[in-house]
Amino acid sequence: MKRVLFFSACCLLTIKSFCWGFYAHQRINYFSVFLLPPEMLVFYKPNIQFLSDHAVDPDKRRYALASEAPRHYIDIDRYGEFPFEELPTRYDSAIKKFSEDTVVANGIAPWWIQTMQARLTNAFKEKSAAKILKLSAEIGHYVADAHVPLHANSNHDGQLTGQKGIHAFWESRIPELLAEKEFDFMIGKAHYISNISKFIWTRVLESAAEADSVLQNEAALTKKLSTDRKFAFEERNGKIVRQYSSHFTVAFNDELKGMVERRMQMAIASTASFWYTAWIDAGQPDLKHLQPLAFSEEDLKEFEVLNAAWKNSSLKGRPHE
Ligand SMILES: [Zn+2]
Repeated sequence: MKRVLFFSACCLLTIKSFCWGFYAHQRINYFSVFLLPPEMLVFYKPNIQFLSDHAVDPDKRRYALASEAPRHYIDIDRYGEFPFEELPTRYDSAIKKFSEDTVVANGIAPWWIQTMQARLTNAFKEKSAAKILKLSAEIGHYVADAHVPLHANSNHDGQLTGQKGIHAFWESRIPELLAEKEFDFMIGKAHYISNISKFIWTRVLESAAEADSVLQNEAALTKKLSTDRKFAFEERNGKIVRQYSSHFTVAFNDELKGMVERRMQMAIASTASFWYTAWIDAGQPDLKHLQPLAFSEEDLKEFEVLNAAWKNSSLKGRPHE
């Protein structure tokens, strides 16, 4: 237990120092807890800090594990035209048709979420508090990523259209500036998902359909406003940095007509529903009587490796927060 507490303290410090772009993921896991039924709240609420802090572990893992990155996105536009019917929704059929190398290179988010859901369901069956928490925190991350339009498009950072930076602009800058003041995250209850595959593919198609609108609106607004109104030196987490100006950020959010708030709300509803569905599918175990919360040596080591990898990373590469 001592080790767990010691590690939690280190982890909090690390997150405070290095996870500026992780705000939205942490808020999504945090607010998802409040959509759960009382039988789940008894366990999730006391552990809400862990669920929020570890919402960003999958992104940290990208710096420690080469195979991690494709789990966060799918460049679905590489499979033809919307609604991409050429792409089989089953993984085995997809790799048979396009080869595993191609499928992995284009991203595997919708399939990986299903793998994580099976693992979370097993954790509930095992009544393992540590596994339930770790997997809940992480599946929240992957589910949230699937709700981001630019996680479902090969022009993921506007790199093909001279709009580099738009990825973090949409998913970090807008929520950081506007979520606390303007977004509403008290949004009802978790519901049972009867078909996980269908559900997640529907979310991915919604994201893919909105990607063009994100790119086009930013380009149109850039034309309308001069560069010195687009970027500004403004405060971010206690530091003055050059970033998209508040003026441009608010104007872009207005152009998108609530898209960022809607996708965050949907990500919260989906995350809570994945947790709830895993619990139901495991036979609704009594969460007041789980095995004592103790992370394995392997888990503790992994937390350390993830934080070290994140700390030492050059912060370059595909945007992913
Ligand atoms: Zn991610």
